Amino acid sequence: MQDKLTLMIPGPTPVPETVLKAMGRHPIGHRSGEFQAVVRHTTEQLRWLHQTKSDVLVITGSGTAAMEAGIINTLSYGDKVLCGDNGKFGQRWVKLAKAYGLDVQVIKADWGQPLDPEAFKRALEADNGKTIKAVILTHSETSTGVINDLETISKYVRTHGKALTIADCVTSLGACNVPMDSWGLDVVASGSQKGYMMPPGLSFVAMSERAWQAHQQSDLPKFYLDLGPYRKTAAQDSNPFTPAVNLYFALESALGMMQSEGLEAIFDRHARHRAAAQAGMKAICLPLYAAEGHGSPAITAVAPEGVDAEQLRKTVKEKFDILLAGGQDHLKGKVFRIGHLGFVCDRDILTAIAAIESTLQSLGLHKGNMGDGLAAAAAILR
Ligand SMILES: *Cc1c(COP(=O)(O)O)cnc(C)c1O
Repeated sequence: MQDKLTLMIPGPTPVPETVLKAMGRHPIGHRSGEFQAVVRHTTEQLRWLHQTKSDVLVITGSGTAAMEAGIINTLSYGDKVLCGDNGKFGQRWVKLAKAYGLDVQVIKADWGQPLDPEAFKRALEADNGKTIKAVILTHSETSTGVINDLETISKYVRTHGKALTIADCVTSLGACNVPMDSWGLDVVASGSQKGYMMPPGLSFVAMSERAWQAHQQSDLPKFYLDLGPYRKTAAQDSNPFTPAVNLYFALESALGMMQSEGLEAIFDRHARHRAAAQAGMKAICLPLYAAEGHGSPAITAVAPEGVDAEQLRKTVKEKFDILLAGGQDHLKGKVFRIGHLGFVCDRDILTAIAAIESTLQSLGLHKGNMGDGLAAAAAILR
């Protein structure tokens, strides 16, 4: 049905009408006083979201641009780094670090399992010469629906004393607590089409004072993504290049909505939706893919044994206009993922579970009684 598509993928996520309307006006000059006021306001809003006093810079690009900026602005050719890898986005960090000639030691965990903070601790403690320059990891591993213990790992990095913590918080920021300053994070990367309730197109990179010190030494090639000019112009409420002016309007509007709701309320909502999605799936005998107790607040991955996940997804889309995410790489057909990140309300969760149940029933694959999943989810949301 036209205009009825509900996105329940981990980005792009649904966009509120208020935000769409804010975007849908004529662009204004990016060197005008009117636009400077928008930059000034959004800079403050972004600091609020990141719970930081440091700079949060805005890049026109997708989330990966912020990840890349985080690497090339703080590190140098041949630098030794520890990289966490327990899914597709951990792999992206490894590839990105290698593409710039970093000396990458990978700390792996199986897909579906969280990274082991103790493995990072051991590697950092063994580094007597303090040669490790950064610990790089994904907070919410979107491909598997696992949340990694960034807080503990970051604490171990601070104890090491030299290394920076560089984190992909693309699907954790705006879904759960990511207090940049109190956790001692040095680089936090995120993207507009995730928890921000915005269309794709902007990415955000927050840099601690330690990260700026590293920037002075960093010799990796950079021009468009050199954060130096971004910092300098941000101090004058401006940007080094032509920014995505209309996406800034959306940003101001979306962050305003988030501020009205409040951080605690936003985190509670995501935690409740995670609990409801998990309970709903378990109640109809669909196993969760993420290890128990380590599910992401942004996305629930489900591994439905004996069900073709792609067929399920396709049918849910065709019959109900709800787009679920599939499995990536070797998980294709084996896993589907329910995105509950950003502009999501209880109704969306209940509807998605009902649609999944109804689809399973029509395929003759429902393993319990129709409505069991819905009842379990509703009990959580009540
Ligand atoms: C979506 C996402 C990204 C960014 O991907 P882009 O397509 O570049 O926006 C990075 N990391 C995680 C964990 C993500 O979910």
